[in-house]
Amino acid sequence: MNRILIAEDERGIASFLEKGLRAEGFTTLVVEDGPSAASAARDRDFDLVILDLGLPYLDGHEVLAEIRGRGERMPVIILTARKGVGDTVTGLEGGADDYVTKPFRFLELMARIRARMRDQGTSEVTVLEVGDVTLDLRTRKATTGGKEVELSAREFTLVETLMRHPGQVLSRQQLLSHVWGYDFDTGSNIVDVYIGYLRKKLGKDLIETVRGMGYRLIH
Ligand code: CA
Repeated sequence: MNRILIAEDERGIASFLEKGLRAEGFTTLVVEDGPSAASAARDRDFDLVILDLGLPYLDGHEVLAEIRGRGERMPVIILTARKGVGDTVTGLEGGADDYVTKPFRFLELMARIRARMRDQGTSEVTVLEVGDVTLDLRTRKATTGGKEVELSAREFTLVETLMRHPGQVLSRQQLLSHVWGYDFDTGSNIVDVYIGYLRKKLGKDLIETVRGMGYRLIH
């Protein structure tokens, strides 16, 4: 399960998705309008489709209807900028497996892709462990020294990002775009603030500050 079709007409979002998914080891194809999405889904072999609703010529709902109309069961995750539940309900009734509302965080989308992979029975790491800290990615629970620690969603995602790259220095900008979203204010010191929270909760020696570069998880 590693071929993903990205149907998205906003170049910035499409390339953000493509870069992120490739970094996670997926093969991707980007198409920018509805008819291309429908034909790519028909003619090529994809394991999952990320489908923007607002596509030119044929919108996401119509593309989805075309895919499901052929009895094709590949997972489809809808991307929508549209507020309100109407589109979401229509999408899910039309056979989408999940949806993500723009603006979204890459890790949120990854979590949903991983959930679809689990549904498909693909094996996937579910517990991360570094030193005496463990993260259960299914239950979103963290422990240190065997004791459960309460983490907010952002704290969890931040430490998850660091734990996926143990020993590697991640810049503030990388952490910002992974945890808070690609368009988050880059002048913010929010990463430093959250690193402080994590040190309080998980131990001050877990995360090292690398001066002028960023942060690194000590393993
Ligand atoms: Ca669009």
